[in-house]
Parts: sequence; structure tokens; C-alpha cells
Amino acid sequence: MDVQDRIVIVTGSASGIGRATALAFARAGARGVVLADLERANTGLDATATDVEEAGAEAVPLHTDVTDLDSLRRLFAETERRFGRLDVLHNNAGIGEGASIWPDVPSERCAAIVDVNLRGVILGTQLALEPMRRSGGGVVVNTSSGAAFMPLPQQAVYAATKAGVVHFTRSCAPLFESHRVRVNCVCPGLVDTPMILETGGGRIGDWLRPFHDSVELLRPEQIAHAVLALVRDDAKIAEVVSVGNEPRAAR
Ligand code: NAD
Repeated sequence: MDVQDRIVIVTGSASGIGRATALAFARAGARGVVLADLERANTGLDATATDVEEAGAEAVPLHTDVTDLDSLRRLFAETERRFGRLDVLHNNAGIGEGASIWPDVPSERCAAIVDVNLRGVILGTQLALEPMRRSGGGVVVNTSSGAAFMPLPQQAVYAATKAGVVHFTRSCAPLFESHRVRVNCVCPGLVDTPMILETGGGRIGDWLRPFHDSVELLRPEQIAHAVLALVRDDAKIAEVVSVGNEPRAAR
């Protein structure tokens, strides 16, 4: 799919990878980028919107909670109302255990991780299908993680949801035949975003420190690049693409 003039939704776009992806779509010529994130004090959503506009696309910041079905329905309805179509959805919003370590994670937090990372991706994909079919087809890219492929004892809930996203993506292959919608996912290694500082309550968690110190952190723009590549390549259907860390260069 040519990104030029497309209408794109990016969830979790106030920060980190989602923010980088929203900007990358704008720079690649998208006509409209709908920025879906939680309403919070000091949100980065407005800053993302300003940058997206400067890059030449129309930015629509929409406070959205991907765990809330009504909120998600409003997101898709408003996107079609504003632009008359939907071409791309980046299901990117995600949370981890924060500074808690499994199994000492509050049960409410466990439920929230599943709701944001897995339920949000499933419902977002489902709600995108009809608008995309009406638009002649579309692409969904889900953000999973390298944590999908290896046991992560300290963040077992996060790892389980990310493995779920991979399996969900692979199970969505027939949606291309039925709806002309390609569903793919990207699995980043450790990326330099605010999320990794939550593992230690504002710093890198002790359990993550040895890995963190042994690799080059990825930049959010590298993940955005992989997302756009999945959108552009019409041969990518139910593909799972890893973007891993290189070993840290000697200093
Ligand atoms: P981040 O914390 O910078 O950004 C996540 C965004 O998601 C935030 O703006 C947050 O407000 C939003 N969000 C959280 N809950 C939401 C909800 N219920 N509804 C709407 N928005 C919500 O983190 P990031 O690193 O950019 O993470 C983006 C995605 O990448 C996540 O799915 C994460 O699991 C995944 N990921 C991150 C890394 C990493 O090392 N940073 C590695 C692999 C995968």
C-alpha cells in the first residue's frame, strides 16, 4: 500500500513508538493521522499533533482508552466521520508490570495489562474491519515484543499478552481474503522509551539492568520504519517481524 494520502490511526501515540510511527506516517505523505491515547495531565498527545501537522498531515488527537469498548467505537466512528475512510491501524498502546515483579503484581494491574495489550488489540482489529472494507481494504500492524518469544519471569503477564498478540496476528491471515485487510505485527527488542524506565519506578529495573547494559537500545524511529515497511509491502500478510538489539559496541 502506498502511504500517500492515507488515513491512519495510531494508538498509544502520545509517547515512544506510537509517537514515532505517527510522525513517520505524516512524513511519508499520509493525509490524516488520528492520534489515540489516554487523557492524562501533561499528555504528549498535543505535542505529537503539532509535529504531525508540521510534517504535512492533518492530526486529530482523540482521547481514547483502548480497554473501553465505547471509547474504541467512538475512535473508529469519528475517524470515518472526519475523513470518510480508514486505511491503516497501528494497535500500539501497551503497558507492562511497571516496577512490580511477577507474581507480586497487584491483580488489578495484571487485569489492566491483559486489557490494554491483548483485548485492546483484538477489539481494535475487529472494529477496523468494516471501515477498512468500505475503504477497499487496509492494513493493521500490532505492536508485540521480543518478550513474546522467550520466558520473562519478572514480567510474565506482559510476556503472555505479547505472545498472544503474535498468535492473534497469525490467526488473522484469512482476513485478507474476507475483508482485504492485512494484519501483521512487529516485535521490538528493548527500545529507548519511557516504558523501560517504569521497570524501576523512574529508572531501569534491577532485573533488566544486565540486558540493558549489554545491548544498543533501539530508537522508536527504527520501529516506526519497520511498521511502515509492513504497511507498504502488499505481500506481508500475518507476518511477524522482529527488530532486535545489537550487542553494545565497546566504548
Ligand atoms: P510508552 O509508555 O512510551 O508509550 C505507550 C503509550 O500507550 C503511552 O502514551 C500510554 O499513554 C498509551 N496507553 C497506555 N494505556 C493505554 C490505553 N488504555 N489506551 C490508550 N493508550 C494507552 O511505551 P512504548 O515503549 O512506546 O510502547 C509502545 C508499545 O511498544 C507497547 O505496546 C509496548 O509493549 C511495546 N514495546 C515496547 C518496548 C520497549 O522496550 N519500549 C519493547 C517491545 C515492545
